[in-house]
Amino acid sequence: MRVSKVVLFDTYIPEKDFLYYSIPEEFTESADIGKAVVVPLKKSRKLGYIWDIEEIEDPEFEVYPILSILENIPPLSKPLVRLVNWISEYYSNSLYKTANYIFPSGVELEVLRYLKARDTVVEMSKKQEKIFLALIDNEMEEKSLKKSLKVSESVIKALLKKGAIEERFEIKLIEKKPRKHVYLSEKKGDSWGSFTIDKKILDLMKKPILLFIESRDERWKTYFEIMKHFYQRGKSILFVFPTIKSLIQFGDFLSQYVPFSIYFYHSFLTEAQSYSVFKVATTEQAVVLSTSKGLFLPFKDLGVIIVDQEENEFYNMREKEPRYDSVVVALKRGELEGIPVVLGSSSPSIVSFYRTIYREMELYRKPLFYRPQITVIDLRKDKTQEILDFYSLRKIEENLRNRRKVFILLNRLGYSPYIQCQDCGYIFMCPHCKSSLVYHLEEKIMKCHYCGFEMLPPQRCPVCEGYSFVYGGIGTEKLYRYLVNLYDRAKVLRIDSEVELQDETIIYGADIVVGTRLIEPWLDDEKIGLLIIYNLDNFLHIPDFASPEKTFNMIKRIIGIYKGREMIIRTYNPSHYVVRALKINSFGNFLNRELLNRKSLNYPPFSKIHQILLEDIDEKEILDEGGRIVSKIKEEFKDLAILGPAPYFPYFVRDKYRYQIIIKDNENLINSDFLKKVCEENRSPFSNLKFIINIDMREIIT
Ligand SMILES: [Zn+2]
Ligand SMILES: [Zn+2]
Ligand SMILES: [Zn+2]
Repeated sequence: MRVSKVVLFDTYIPEKDFLYYSIPEEFTESADIGKAVVVPLKKSRKLGYIWDIEEIEDPEFEVYPILSILENIPPLSKPLVRLVNWISEYYSNSLYKTANYIFPSGVELEVLRYLKARDTVVEMSKKQEKIFLALIDNEMEEKSLKKSLKVSESVIKALLKKGAIEERFEIKLIEKKPRKHVYLSEKKGDSWGSFTIDKKILDLMKKPILLFIESRDERWKTYFEIMKHFYQRGKSILFVFPTIKSLIQFGDFLSQYVPFSIYFYHSFLTEAQSYSVFKVATTEQAVVLSTSKGLFLPFKDLGVIIVDQEENEFYNMREKEPRYDSVVVALKRGELEGIPVVLGSSSPSIVSFYRTIYREMELYRKPLFYRPQITVIDLRKDKTQEILDFYSLRKIEENLRNRRKVFILLNRLGYSPYIQCQDCGYIFMCPHCKSSLVYHLEEKIMKCHYCGFEMLPPQRCPVCEGYSFVYGGIGTEKLYRYLVNLYDRAKVLRIDSEVELQDETIIYGADIVVGTRLIEPWLDDEKIGLLIIYNLDNFLHIPDFASPEKTFNMIKRIIGIYKGREMIIRTYNPSHYVVRALKINSFGNFLNRELLNRKSLNYPPFSKIHQILLEDIDEKEILDEGGRIVSKIKEEFKDLAILGPAPYFPYFVRDKYRYQIIIKDNENLINSDFLKKVCEENRSPFSNLKFIINIDMREIIT
């Protein structure tokens, strides 16, 4: 018997990624992998995609037939189906969740029920008779019948039971239509611009290529030329960006030149808008600018995938299922489709760059022809104990006098990151997460940034009853207030996830901007004279093997965007190799030192890092089960370095403990199936332990 495996839209059945349905005679020609179908499930009708077709002999369960094939809904290509299978296997994601992640939103089924009287005579009540008469030779849709005759379902049911009327179902597909075309750029350009690229790049594209181009604008021009090459050959182009803001900025650049509309695809679109892009991509030649999600769009004839800022850790999608690394997925899709993949970067990830050394990937490199002057402030020598050092203050004043703007990057939210009792040293902690509460001066409240818990600032210390407190550390709010007081005639602005900006353009009018990494996209303003990295150590000393790399790359990315003259880096570690390499702008110095470290500690690219996250209310349970999991893995693979179970950061969130096991797999021995099996087999009966498997991490907090 020929059956299809169907993955349903939005209908999760535990333990079942797909259901089997038979293929009726009438669909033998049209039924194919990747086609949308309507199938029965209990008494309802469901949308789904045919995931596979196979022969099975005498199934032991009942197999219902597919009801219809929906040619209207764009099909998924076979490489795309294979990509989803691969992601679910490689990263240990459920196939159902991964498939649903890529299914189009904005389509629904509506089941219409039609009623008609039969040619029969039965006894009936007055109410029933009224309906019966209305339905003689007159088929009516349920809703309009109920409305016009004000009947209830029970009366209809009674008539059906008596056999006086009959029902018929019709399935209607509802495709939501967007009201606003925000997903579409305005057509502005009329020519193809006049940039030229090194023809060498096109030759190199037989393999995946790493475009190591330090200046963002130069990189954009190169992308444009690559796009033009493929577009003029009738191909579609997919651009992937780590943030919505960066894709919009690139869209503004592109639409100045291209003589057609480009499409945006990201999580801020409505269902109807996303569905429009989904449909266009499958039917027309299109240029789509997307966040990671676009890697799963079906395309009519995709020519090339271009991933910008491949080094950006925002591509590490591990928050929820499906968990994956966007760069790895882009390369995989390129391989499955047989098309080139371009990874662009101002400062490539260690893993990608390392692959170019072995020619698994080609390298094209173009250094920066201008760069800002970098001044490193040694905070150990700053005797003022002020919020800002003397040199920075002098430079801020100088820039304000010359009508140049100043940006300050600080990655700490709130006013004070912690409040401490002066008598006994107690630090106020969130009762649910055991992390320090952050004081917010404007709202006069202490907040937990992990769970949202809030409380009023203390009157008395709960430990020693003391009543004098230190509002310790410096957050964006404190720095902002300090600057407002200091420069009362300057327009000072704060940008972080806790301030709502009514209108983003006010950023252009500010004299001083204080903010978290959200300021990154605004640094291309030519009126900026000075950028201060408030404390590089905040980035550098996050306990993650990748934090030197992430810090170096972030600053290099900023330098690639930044058009200002000077950059001040404040640090207590001026001799750190990241600071030294930044100061002389040497990727090579950084790379050599970093590779040595990675090699000696067995981190990527010399191994793959896998993580098992364990979560439970009961800490002992985690340690017991976690311990068993570790010894089981050690038993199988004696030579691998396995760490943990060790507390993960934050260690206690929303009343649950969190631990992690880290595996350094330098022989490529471990796969997700094995880890999943070990976790499941070592679970105690009735255990509530939740485990999450993360394969092949590019960063990890230890
Ligand atoms: Zn806050
Ligand atoms: Zn105290
Ligand atoms: Zn909390």
